[in-house]
Amino acid sequence: MTVLASGSRGNATVIAAAGTRLLVDAGLSCRELLRRMALAGEDPSQLNAILITHEHLDHVAGLAVLARRLGIPVFFTEATHRAWVRMVKPRTTMTYAKWLDHLQAEKEARAAQTASQHAPAHSFAAVAEAPVFTADDEMQRNAGISLQEAGQGTEPVVVDEDAELEAASMAMPAKAKADPSFLPAVEYFRAGQSFSIGAIEVEPFTIPHDAADPCGFVFHARTESIRMAVATDLGYIPPNVKLALKNVDVLLLESNHDLEMLKDGPYPWSVKQRVLSRVGHLSNAACAEFLLRDYDGGAHTIVLGHLSEQNNLPELARLAAEQAIGGRMSLLGNRLLLAVQDAPLESICL
Ligand SMILES: [Zn+2]
Ligand SMILES: [Zn+2]
Repeated sequence: MTVLASGSRGNATVIAAAGTRLLVDAGLSCRELLRRMALAGEDPSQLNAILITHEHLDHVAGLAVLARRLGIPVFFTEATHRAWVRMVKPRTTMTYAKWLDHLQAEKEARAAQTASQHAPAHSFAAVAEAPVFTADDEMQRNAGISLQEAGQGTEPVVVDEDAELEAASMAMPAKAKADPSFLPAVEYFRAGQSFSIGAIEVEPFTIPHDAADPCGFVFHARTESIRMAVATDLGYIPPNVKLALKNVDVLLLESNHDLEMLKDGPYPWSVKQRVLSRVGHLSNAACAEFLLRDYDGGAHTIVLGHLSEQNNLPELARLAAEQAIGGRMSLLGNRLLLAVQDAPLESICL
């Protein structure tokens, strides 16, 4: 597991095993994702697929551009895909019938692209006519907490540099060019139903969060008995998540905010309510409560992630988790790391 970024300004993590490499979320600009991968010693051309936990901007900011550039499939739940399409095409109202038409049109565009393509898949990319994201009201609503947490409230950082990046690449068929939500391939999964990508088995589980159909993942290399889990962006830890997080070797778990800092902090009351709600974000205390009461103590490494820059301090998150793990910390097990926003974390290899 290599955490490239974690926090309300962008999330992305590489999971690799037995020759398969997956990117979980693409919440930085494409350019920044490529830069982070280079820093972490990861080769983007080796990625097999992108998996999306949910459609909030801090998990999808560079998605379309990166997927088109690498020519790799994106795995979503159908509800998350649909919410994402509505987010990148904010002026579209879409009934379910219209959504099905959209899927059909995309399928045709992909077929046309395959037929007309002379260059290898990875060099095909859109000429961006307009930025993928606008500071449109609806998009801000969709980005919700994430944008507001970023403390910028308006324009995401992504767009311009990625538009440039795409414009510098090869053109692609008109249909795809006109559609900012065009992806080289889309695959659907459902929470609770495991599936395989190459050598990795993926077990998606539902998490409580204010998005269309948010998921966490457990990854399991079929040739080895190692399990790694990603669980961030959840308001609390319900029984299905406790169950999913049993018996994992590496756990990336949210420790978003300190309750006192959030209550006394700069957010408007409505945003505080959302963060604190059952579909908001996990506090240091709730994370510690899980580690104390429900966690089985078997992980090699626990990574605390999605720390709020406004309402948390790394020392507070660490202290709460360390106190909860308490006597179970050992040289070989329960090493505690903190993921950060602005740099990749050293790869965790088992
Ligand atoms: Zn998030
Ligand atoms: Zn979120």
